[in-house]
Amino acid sequence: MALLNDNYLKLKAGYLFPEIGRRVKAFCEANPDAAQRLIRCGIGDVTEPLPPAVIAALHKAVDDMGARETFHGYGPEQGYEWLRAAIAQNEFRGRGLDVADDEIFVSDGTKCDTGSILDILGAKNKIAISDPVYPVYVDTNVMAGHTGPANEAGAYGKLVYLPCKPSSGFIPEPPKKHVDVIYLCSPNNPTGAAANRPQLEAWVKYALEHKSVILFDAAYEAYISDPALPHSIYEISGARECAIEFRSYSKHGGFTGVRCGFTVVPKTLLAATKTGEMKPLHPLWNRRMCTKFNGVSYIVQRAAEALYSPEGKQQVRALIDHYMGNAIVLRAGAKKAGLKVFGGQNAPYLWVRTPKGVTSWQAFDKILGDASVVITPGSGFGAKGEGYFRISAFNSRANAEEVARRLQELKW
Ligand SMILES: *Cc1c(COP(=O)(O)O)cnc(C)c1O
Repeated sequence: MALLNDNYLKLKAGYLFPEIGRRVKAFCEANPDAAQRLIRCGIGDVTEPLPPAVIAALHKAVDDMGARETFHGYGPEQGYEWLRAAIAQNEFRGRGLDVADDEIFVSDGTKCDTGSILDILGAKNKIAISDPVYPVYVDTNVMAGHTGPANEAGAYGKLVYLPCKPSSGFIPEPPKKHVDVIYLCSPNNPTGAAANRPQLEAWVKYALEHKSVILFDAAYEAYISDPALPHSIYEISGARECAIEFRSYSKHGGFTGVRCGFTVVPKTLLAATKTGEMKPLHPLWNRRMCTKFNGVSYIVQRAAEALYSPEGKQQVRALIDHYMGNAIVLRAGAKKAGLKVFGGQNAPYLWVRTPKGVTSWQAFDKILGDASVVITPGSGFGAKGEGYFRISAFNSRANAEEVARRLQELKW
């Protein structure tokens, strides 16, 4: 008799996005006219085409594959050297940060890597995640058997939930108790908050004191506009001894459908064996990638490399400026509508307080029903997200302007 992984049965049915889909479908069927003017600001996916420098690199790489002299079969599991060097130089060393080429592991994206990283961490770690949170961090730990069952409110046993409060800018504070592994996401999905230097310093200090590992998801790093905010955890002294950083080209280069990102595992980062001996994690991640991954396609890695060409950099800047321009329009519209708005300044998400006495799902129904706009209810990201909703700035400018206008017409 084959046994299944019982941990999967503990997962709460993927509730948020299917439920949004169900309500939107019902609304559109009941109101075909309103459905015509439906605008989706719900899912965190990019809307604009790839930068021209990327398209040119893709075409060229496809042609390379068509000629014997330039054909590429299996590449290195960790990524081609030319891409790892371009990443280390452009993202880190060019900004004064100490990251070696071979500490970069190119992958098919951050969602996969934040899940796979659990392969190289022990089963008995105390895991801290923020509330609200990107659901992948929670569900991958459930699958790995690191949690108890979920309670009525959807919180899993054994996980340590760190509340994100408006008073600390929605950035979680280090807990009083001990935790071994900490997920931090900055700039944050869903709250749009970005951690400042003292906040990250407090986390690095905690991690060094507790010999914890910080899993730092910087997928939205390129959306930071405030020059005082850190783009990488490695800007904080001591982070090379306690942090793994995840980066993605999904939001940076519009690569959600192309699939590429990378993970930084410093060789100076150690974790304990069962007997308490400290050993580096880098060889374990290297081994994990060599065994369970066969590298990102040559074509896609050439596309990623093009993001670092002078034209590529300029085009990425324009793409991000476009989305952040939408965020400005949406913020102004939501504020004029009398709503309390957070985020949207260093991240493409606005985190909006619902009017008094209105729950996240009631706000969702109201905005869908009266404005034909789809947002994301904050409660779907965790108990502390109740009373908020997320507006995504990934859209055309015309749509962002229309949403800003419709928000002002709402009568709560
Ligand atoms: C979009 C997003 C990512 C990107 O994941 P990919 O697998 O690289 O597309 C990672 N983390 C967060 C929090 C995100 O919102």
